[in-house]
Amino acid sequence: MKSKQVLNRVQLSEREIPKKWYNIAADLNEKPLPPLDPQTRQPITPDKLSLLFPQRLIEQEVSEEQFIKIPNEILKILLKWRPTPLVRARGLEELLETPAHIYFKNESVSPTGSHKSNTAVAQAYYNKLEHVKRLATETGAGQWGSALAMACNYFDLGCKVFMVKSSFDQKPYRRAMMQLWGAEVTASPSEETNAGKEMLERAPDSPGSLGMAISEAVEVAASDPETKYSLGSVLNHVILHQTIIGEETLKQLEKVDEYPDTIIGCVGGGSNFGGFAFPFVREILEEKPRAKKMRVIAVEPTACPTLTRGMFTYDYGDTAGLTPLLSMYTLGHDFVPAAIHAGGLRYHGVSPLVSALVHQGIVQAVAYSQNEVFDAALKFAKSEGIVPAPESAHAIRAAIDEALRAKSEGKKEVIVFNLSGHGYFDMSAYDAYLQGHLEDSTIDEEELQKHLKQLRRLSVSE
Ligand SMILES: *Cc1c(COP(=O)(O)O)cnc(C)c1O
Repeated sequence: MKSKQVLNRVQLSEREIPKKWYNIAADLNEKPLPPLDPQTRQPITPDKLSLLFPQRLIEQEVSEEQFIKIPNEILKILLKWRPTPLVRARGLEELLETPAHIYFKNESVSPTGSHKSNTAVAQAYYNKLEHVKRLATETGAGQWGSALAMACNYFDLGCKVFMVKSSFDQKPYRRAMMQLWGAEVTASPSEETNAGKEMLERAPDSPGSLGMAISEAVEVAASDPETKYSLGSVLNHVILHQTIIGEETLKQLEKVDEYPDTIIGCVGGGSNFGGFAFPFVREILEEKPRAKKMRVIAVEPTACPTLTRGMFTYDYGDTAGLTPLLSMYTLGHDFVPAAIHAGGLRYHGVSPLVSALVHQGIVQAVAYSQNEVFDAALKFAKSEGIVPAPESAHAIRAAIDEALRAKSEGKKEVIVFNLSGHGYFDMSAYDAYLQGHLEDSTIDEEELQKHLKQLRRLSVSE
């Protein structure tokens, strides 16, 4: 029975955990353009991809099936922390004196503190099934590296992580966390790969970037038959695994008889946003009456404004140009974002699925600078007691602004955002904010145009 009781945390029982992932590709009228082989510039063939990924994940990457069953072996591990709570942010509502109802989906309760554990477990499982011995990957702020390290540990797989240099220095505890699960961690760019050596030659003091670290991990995987590559965001199969977040949220809102006017998530490569928002976007695509007025907002940093100022075109996923060309919003694969503390949002591109939805006007994008984001993080920490990840605080900033707008318009709206992770490994960033040392960086137009011009040269569609 549906009730209007005063609930703070909307819980699902273990039995109610969704048993299927949602594949939005099945429902899109305009499909994203296919990934291209970097050598031939033709749609990439599955056998080329199998150098990097196991067969099952390649099938999911190109699948047109609307729902894909979650294997029991994966569910068994997800049930250690899922279903995650949906929380009514009453403290924040009171602080803002807004008539809006604010809810957040709390993905910070996973063992590694972010949503990334969801796909890490699935990817480790499928690789194990196909007798892979080791996974190589990159990590920005360290959340993805720790999630994959944990998952590899469960399935007895080796794990090699290239960690972006600036984060390697800023977040030693994330490195230690990966190592305690048995992963081997290297600061990127490194001397261990040709791609890394070339980048160091060009810029010996480079703070690194996700694009560079991806080049190194891909090179390691491509040159070792027992090692495959694993990506923590961007690709279709990664977002597929994250849709359990949105599927749970839909069920939880139904329990309290609410439906969102606004859905909000932060965007780095697009996986927590897509995983959280796509089950709601499905209702828009299906033209469900209740979804007619719903707005879906993707939030990014002004220091890396891919969706708000980037170009929609084909680009590489990495700096060295080893990955397939993806059709997406991008700032250019050689763009190195400023070393902002939301390390997980420092990526030059955005998932082709999320990009397509922004391009088609179904999803809106906004950008915020670092200090306004930390101001929102502090309001959230003070009113709800959780210190959010700087990445997630982008979504909080947008939720606060929406709640204040609702207040000025006197509207009782329902705002739901994804708290993609906690910030307990980011205390040095909070320390810098409290001391007034955080810089707001915005890329200037000239610099941006320089990178976009190179893209035009690369582009195959124009
Ligand atoms: C990695 C990360 C992000 C950004 O990655 P997406 O793929 O865009 O979700 C956001 N929040 C947290 C907590 C992260 O760890």
